[in-house]
Amino acid sequence: MNTIQTDVCVLGAGPGGVATALQLHELGIPCVMVDKAVFPRDKICGDAISGKVVYALNRIDKSIVPEFVERNDIKVDCWGVSFIFSKGREIKVPLKPDLSEKLIKEQTPSGFVAKRMDFDNFMIDVARKRDLIDIIENCNISKIVKTENGFELTSKDGKTHIKTKLLIGANGAHSKFMREFGNIHKDPEHYAGSVRGYYKNVTGFNQFNFIELHYLKEFLPGYLWVFPLPNGQANVGVGMRSDLISKNKVNLKDDMIRLLKEHPRFKERFKDAELVGKLQGFGLPLGSKKRKLSGDNFMLIGDAASLIDPLTGEGIGNAVISGRFAALHAQKCLEADNFSSEFMDAYDKMVYDKLWDELKVSYRLQKGLLKPWMVAFTTRVLANNKQFGEVLSAMFSDVDLRKKLQSPKFYFNLIFNRK
Ligand SMILES: Cc1cc2nc3c(=O)[nH]c(=O)nc-3n(C[C@H](O)[C@H](O)[C@H](O)COP(=O)(O)OP(=O)(O)OC[C@H]3O[C@@H](n4cnc5c(N)ncnc54)[C@H](O)[C@@H]3O)c2cc1C
Repeated sequence: MNTIQTDVCVLGAGPGGVATALQLHELGIPCVMVDKAVFPRDKICGDAISGKVVYALNRIDKSIVPEFVERNDIKVDCWGVSFIFSKGREIKVPLKPDLSEKLIKEQTPSGFVAKRMDFDNFMIDVARKRDLIDIIENCNISKIVKTENGFELTSKDGKTHIKTKLLIGANGAHSKFMREFGNIHKDPEHYAGSVRGYYKNVTGFNQFNFIELHYLKEFLPGYLWVFPLPNGQANVGVGMRSDLISKNKVNLKDDMIRLLKEHPRFKERFKDAELVGKLQGFGLPLGSKKRKLSGDNFMLIGDAASLIDPLTGEGIGNAVISGRFAALHAQKCLEADNFSSEFMDAYDKMVYDKLWDELKVSYRLQKGLLKPWMVAFTTRVLANNKQFGEVLSAMFSDVDLRKKLQSPKFYFNLIFNRK
């Protein structure tokens, strides 16, 4: 057995784990990062990488995004979002004003779509180049024991044993560690189920690669998405709150296949479409409820901390943001030699100070989508409202502008002072 002693261990090398490790490296702190997978590996996701991810990565290391921008082999540049409601009412939200062929040649896009197989592999390759990050792949941690001085982790094959003062739980939505030590359990009202498939030969995409969010009565307050990918493929899926899946007895896979075949909005576009591989399901722990994110000698980040936006289903950005905060707090723990639960409270505060306002707003809007009359009224009023378009655009590209959505004055102006 290989026994490793470290101050900081990051469990999981998804975008959250890698962001943590990269920020630790920037601070001059070595870490061991373990993952059960061997990269490249798939992660079931919509594959949309929003402006929030770009913003968060830039806070860690400004060289990462420009490197990714060059990778046209693995991503498409996304210049906008289309929200499509009942009766085909569409709100198109360009992520840059005055979008044109000329502009997209000159500017850096605000978002991308890349298969997680490729994006996560790109990220781990960035981490591989940092000498303070020790990456151990193919290491499925099956036993975690709390000790007086931290944690001891053992892999399922018994070959790896890690002793760490501080454990950063970045092992995603199905994290056992989050349940055992974080006491965070699946709450169907604050959790979503989903399926995702890759298709080829889908037609009818927007020329600027807008991602499409289709709000259909079958899945409200969730949606069916169609996101363009490189090489003519598309990521297609549906997500819906788990309590409503059970209550309405929804079969996400069957309903999605049926709608793609029969719904007037999709049947022409999908008539020659072929599924590449299988439709696969995965959970989304939503951040619509505050939780304790840390304890003695540990912090949880990303999906392990249940930080997915309850309206958009976006989680990569919050995984990177919380990962960065965990690294910043790890530095304080090491300096003070204090790993107590009380000391970790400052990490929880940092995360929720940054994210809670927008998570709260997203949750309110998510609940609003459960009222069909409100959706019909709002989409009719707002379909051509420029200011609303700008705010929706901000939700995907500019984190701080989400705060606008909290002001009643904003809604008043939106409806009564239409531009
Ligand atoms: C269907 C679907 C669509 C989504 N669409 C989007 C989208 O378009 N955009 C967006 O921003 N977000 C989206 N999300 C959310 C997004 O996928 C997650 O929020 C994001 O992956 C969280 O990153 P993470 O690093 O916290 O966890 P993960 O990406 O899940 O990484 C966790 C890592 O931990 C490893 N691990 C797990 N257990 C162990 C173990 N025992 N030992 C060792 N390693 C372990 C895993 O192998 C994995 O590499 C979607 C989610 C789903 C399910």
